[in-house]
Amino acid sequence: MMMLSIRTFSFHSVRRSNQLRCLSSWQGSSNFRRSNSNSNGDEGSDGAVPTPGLDGALRRLEGMRLAEIKELMRKMGGKPGNKNKSELVVECHMLLLQSTSAAAKLSGKAAAAAVGAEEEKVEEETAQSQQQQQSIETLFQRPGGASGASLSRKAGNPASAGGGSMRIRDLPPLQSSSSNSSHGVELADLGVELTHKHPYGVNRNSRFNTEQETADMDVTFLGTASCVPSISRGVSCVAFRTQSETWLFDCGEASQLQLQKSRVRASKITKIFITHSHGDHSFGLPGVLCLIGQATQEERQAAGNEASKEEAQPIDIYGPEGIRDFIRATIQLSYSRVCASFRVHELKNVPYLHGRFVRFAPPVPNVKTRFEAHYGEQEGGRSIYPDENGHYHLFEEGELTVKAAPMQHTVPCVGFVVSEANRVGRLKVEEIQPIIEKHKTALATKYGLRDANKIYGVLKQIKSGEKFELPDGTELNADDVLDPPRRGRKVVFMGDTCTGEHIASLATGADVLVHEATNAWFRKLDSDRYSDYKKLERDTFAHGHSTPQMAGRFAHLIKAKRLILTHFSPRYRGDEDLYNMRTMWAIEDMARQTCSLKRKNDIIAAWDQLTIAISSRVED
Ligand SMILES: [Zn+2]
Ligand SMILES: [Zn+2]
Repeated sequence: MMMLSIRTFSFHSVRRSNQLRCLSSWQGSSNFRRSNSNSNGDEGSDGAVPTPGLDGALRRLEGMRLAEIKELMRKMGGKPGNKNKSELVVECHMLLLQSTSAAAKLSGKAAAAAVGAEEEKVEEETAQSQQQQQSIETLFQRPGGASGASLSRKAGNPASAGGGSMRIRDLPPLQSSSSNSSHGVELADLGVELTHKHPYGVNRNSRFNTEQETADMDVTFLGTASCVPSISRGVSCVAFRTQSETWLFDCGEASQLQLQKSRVRASKITKIFITHSHGDHSFGLPGVLCLIGQATQEERQAAGNEASKEEAQPIDIYGPEGIRDFIRATIQLSYSRVCASFRVHELKNVPYLHGRFVRFAPPVPNVKTRFEAHYGEQEGGRSIYPDENGHYHLFEEGELTVKAAPMQHTVPCVGFVVSEANRVGRLKVEEIQPIIEKHKTALATKYGLRDANKIYGVLKQIKSGEKFELPDGTELNADDVLDPPRRGRKVVFMGDTCTGEHIASLATGADVLVHEATNAWFRKLDSDRYSDYKKLERDTFAHGHSTPQMAGRFAHLIKAKRLILTHFSPRYRGDEDLYNMRTMWAIEDMARQTCSLKRKNDIIAAWDQLTIAISSRVED
């Protein structure tokens, strides 16, 4: 296992001038500069920084031959060894990044001269270094986002942070820049070493290699932030897809925008599950219902079938009590006629488990609405009560069963468990057909079948350990006739919570556990507010949320096979900035500390538009 230290970014002065020349000539020979200049052609006119970022470099590296990449690495002082191409692309990209970082430190002629560059190249390198400094600033410094700015203000203003004390969600966003950051943060300042080395930049999806391409079930993260949507993350929303179904779990503000950016088709959504009524999980619901309505209408028109929407299968919406009033009120009061037809199934009596942590319980909402078919609601919405274990049985349809259990959060909240039925093994038609066809008539007589083809149905029933005898005495085992049985998959979507104890029995053995991890503790960044991790965990718990370590502990408890972290505080940005990605990988490592999931893709800190395939597995 390769240990990748953040400190590998420290600059090696011995190689500095070589690297710079190499980078300079390599970029000069490509369309690197052209492709990255401002597309509107007003570069420099308003003082805007041109953006020669390294994403283009990564793409270019991927397009190069192996020998070319090795040569380039050697020129920059790297050691290609026997690594494969994707590893070399990543390493070479890092060396380029070092070069860029070096360039950033050369801010004028004197600096360039100091490293011993030849006289005639000083000017060129100075210009290059200035451009690269801008590059590195662009790469590691994105403090201008609106949400970031507002959060910073909040952090500096105790009055807005509530009662004069700092609240977790008011922590300022992490800054990527060393020069502008309030923390003075540099890459090394995270103070952690990473367990796994991941591809990054535009390449970050390639950490899954071919695994992503094969499954008939997947989840797509449409929003991965808590609290407020930002430039780099939407708020909670996950799409779950099988070959026949598309469901949404939570629907935070702007989910309709996230849906349109994704490969998930709005018109295919048939069910929406809401864990709790907080806005970062529900404010997107009216908009998404309208988007589904509109998309469905457009598809029908395109297909020449304009049947009325009353005939359409309604979208089934599930959530704790109050969700029906919320939908009715927003849809009816906004006179939304394009809203898809829907019906709401409420989970009744969801217990409020966090009472002792809340000094002033909010008053119970008192909003009473009525059924109004004009705005798309259909009859049939159910009230679902918990069983003696506190579990809600939502439905069983086809191969999928959905149950829910309460979460411990600052408002009534549930988590959902989607279970797929086990399936018997598929008939090995290609292998057994020639043998069976030879004996078909005799077999039909033996089993009293009028239609000889029905013999294949008999074969499907063979149980493990049983034998099937052919008229010539040949014996077939279940293994000869059937593929191994497939174990049904289980996917758990937790709501906001500080413990999973109430859903543990339903969630055990999950193939995928989607768990919130709102706050993390970095010694170098957070010790001024929380002197140790335990203090942050206590505060996070009191707010009804989790840390990566808490999520890891729960994954371990239920023996989950994969843990996907989401619902990150807005301070953890979800873009492809290397610093921000390293922060997220470090967060994955924090969850690794408390569970036995150690491989690099067993734990994933989700980013928006990430799709994770859930492969079917043989019985184990
Ligand atoms: Zn939330
Ligand atoms: Zn919440």
